[in-house]
Amino acid sequence: EIVATTAGEGFLDPVPLIGPYPSGAPAIFVDQAGRIGGAAAMVGSVGNDDFGRANIARLKGDGVDVSGIRTDPVLPTGTAFVRYRPDGARDFVFNMWTSAAGALAWDDRVEPVCARAGHLHVMGTLLGHQSIWEMTERAAAMIKARGGTISLDPNMRKELRGDGETGRRFARMVGMADLLLPSGDELYLAADLPVEAGEEAALERLFQSGVKEVAIKRGADGATCALADGSRTHSPAFAVTEMDPTGAGDCFGGAYVACRRLGMTPSQALTYANAAGARNVTFRGPMEGAGTRDELDQFISETKRLTR
Ligand code: ATP
Repeated sequence: EIVATTAGEGFLDPVPLIGPYPSGAPAIFVDQAGRIGGAAAMVGSVGNDDFGRANIARLKGDGVDVSGIRTDPVLPTGTAFVRYRPDGARDFVFNMWTSAAGALAWDDRVEPVCARAGHLHVMGTLLGHQSIWEMTERAAAMIKARGGTISLDPNMRKELRGDGETGRRFARMVGMADLLLPSGDELYLAADLPVEAGEEAALERLFQSGVKEVAIKRGADGATCALADGSRTHSPAFAVTEMDPTGAGDCFGGAYVACRRLGMTPSQALTYANAAGARNVTFRGPMEGAGTRDELDQFISETKRLTR
């Protein structure tokens, strides 16, 4: 769940809030994947409250298999507050690890979801928590052993770094990933190289360690897909007026992974993913703008591309 404020700095003084909206990086990702029409399921934990019910209803309505989401009898649904500074930067307050999300662990709801899955998407925001990490590692091993694939969005929010083990877990997950979806400096974080090393060196390092595909998110500069065979495909962003940037990267990821799983080329998947990210920022609320295949087709035909 997320509640957004309009402008200003920090949360020291009372401010009018906008929301609540269903949210959470993994939920935004899977909602977008479900809306595109790919088979999508989520493992998660909500409280026995309206926030939890709203999240489950939204995902279910958008075609997501919610059988892996547990309802905690005691703890409330996780919440997040975001405030947009005038310069575009954001302040977050997360109440995650003391909520139902913090009680997430492997249980008999998780096993059947993993037994059906051909692909696992992991959000870096979850690596700061011991029992979620254990669950993730077990799910990844189970799905990989059956010939399935893994994608990772580093999504390294400093507020969710957690228990000090996050860096080690991140490196381990990069080592298991087939597809990476970094933005900003995350490519270098994943490759364990300084930014000065340059993008090609970072990509080479990742391909040597077993990564097969990297989709680099560049905000209003669009996105680039790099494959281990040396091919690079760039796709410019769409020209939109940004209302709320939260969730762009997750919608991008949900669309990219769903499209690739549906058999599209990197170039086709980048077009849908750029459209999903751009359409989402035109709506207030982190996942209000996730689009169906038809909505994205319409968006693509009606919206100009930026030139970079
Ligand atoms: P976040 O963490 O805010 O969810 P991110 O940093 O992971 O996002 P971005 O690169 O900001 O990811 O956004 C993902 C994609 O969404 C971009 O590659 C682009 O296609 C699209 N996008 C985001 N912001 C804009 C924008 N202002 N105009 C056009 N497209 C955008």
